[in-house]
Amino acid sequence: MKKESMSKIKRPARAVPVWGSWDVVVAGGGIAGVAAALAAARNGAKTCLVEKYAGLGGLATLGHIIVYLPLCDGRGRQVSFGIAEELLKAPIPYGAARPAGAWAAPAGATDEALRKERYELRYDPGPMVIALERILEEAGVEIAYDTLSVDVARAADGAITHLIVENKSGCGAFAAKAVVDCTGEADLCHGCGEATETSAKNVRSAWYYAVDAERKVSLGYAVDPFWEVDSRPELMRFDGTDWRSVSRQIIESRKLIVEDLAKRNASRSGEGHGPLHAFYAPCFHGFRMTRHLVSDYVMTPADLHRWHDDAVGVFSDWRKRGPVYSLPYRAILAVKTPNLAVAGRCLSSTGDTWDITRVIPVCAVSGEAAGTAAAMAAASGRPLRELPVADVQSALRRRGVRLDPALVAEAQA
Ligand SMILES: Cc1cc2nc3c(=O)[nH]c(=O)nc-3n(C[C@H](O)[C@H](O)[C@H](O)COP(=O)(O)OP(=O)(O)OC[C@H]3O[C@@H](n4cnc5c(N)ncnc54)[C@H](O)[C@@H]3O)c2cc1C
Repeated sequence: MKKESMSKIKRPARAVPVWGSWDVVVAGGGIAGVAAALAAARNGAKTCLVEKYAGLGGLATLGHIIVYLPLCDGRGRQVSFGIAEELLKAPIPYGAARPAGAWAAPAGATDEALRKERYELRYDPGPMVIALERILEEAGVEIAYDTLSVDVARAADGAITHLIVENKSGCGAFAAKAVVDCTGEADLCHGCGEATETSAKNVRSAWYYAVDAERKVSLGYAVDPFWEVDSRPELMRFDGTDWRSVSRQIIESRKLIVEDLAKRNASRSGEGHGPLHAFYAPCFHGFRMTRHLVSDYVMTPADLHRWHDDAVGVFSDWRKRGPVYSLPYRAILAVKTPNLAVAGRCLSSTGDTWDITRVIPVCAVSGEAAGTAAAMAAASGRPLRELPVADVQSALRRRGVRLDPALVAEAQA
């Protein structure tokens, strides 16, 4: 989309009230933000999670992206643990089905049984929204819903001192010792002058619920062919980093729902269930990759099966069986802002690897790492990059995260 040149107006400087003070403030309550806030609170930090909508989960609930992709490598070996596994299981008590096959109760299952299916979960948004909120409440995280993070105040060394937010009470400041950017779009990083990379490859996409005359509900996938975007110039593309592009993606994706329903209804004619209509269209954008932090380390395909000494998480490739990656601590640290970490689909990862790191389980893995480190930075008063990485790794291991070079090595096919 063409960027317009803008005239500007000046707004008078004004004092804003400080509404509270926390060790760790997390901006954005998607899967990454929930994992970060949970990890920070469990590591002793007084934690606040700021979310602009009225529910947690972001794309993974409000956006109807309800397939929690695998925690295993597809060769019978689980590689992601800790909060990534906890969040996969979280909606089960509220009505979600259990994982398929042997992964429902992996203890005692044969290797062959575990290889057959991947350790993933399909859930409904309702149980997940409820579960995420309950988990954070139980951990003592303060949730600020309906609250938009709009700016930051910074100290002379570049550290964020306050998140400036807007909500029902007006405009105010949340004091923070450490901050995690889980906005999905690296909005905080961008606002702090960190280097970022954008992608204009996003297409129209909206996963929606449809219902037939018998009130049978089904999920519809109204998505333009993302993988063909380079070869099909006629496909609409959106970069998602300005308000017009975001609004256009949402509006055009709703039109795609109508097109998709027409196609589905044409193929169902005569089936006797009556036509489908949209039961619930997502009220969240459908962006895969918009903007990510460019940190000291940017993950690329060269990271395949590579163990990093500063690994703070391990994850697989949702698209194929076999590949495993370790997440370097450097990929979740801002460069110019000493107390800012990042997690989720906007961590420092590019190209094809960005398509692997953006998915739900990896958002949980990076969120847990970022929240743990943020709590430790807040407690010690040290910049995030000066924390001994062995201490961060020990804290993660104590909470059940497996950080083991053997996990990253390729398993036998
Ligand atoms: C079409 C499509 C299909 C996909 N399919 C799958 C799939 O099958 N399985 C899978 O695992 N992944 C899939 N993904 C990817 C996955 O859903 C997301 O990448 C992942 O859920 C992102 O989590 P996140 O927490 O990083 O970001 P988000 O889910 O985007 O969460 C960011 C949160 O921050 C909030 N926020 C943003 N800015 C602010 C602000 N300034 N102030 C306050 N709050 C703010 C948002 O409201 C949101 O809650 C798909 C994505 C798309 C688009």
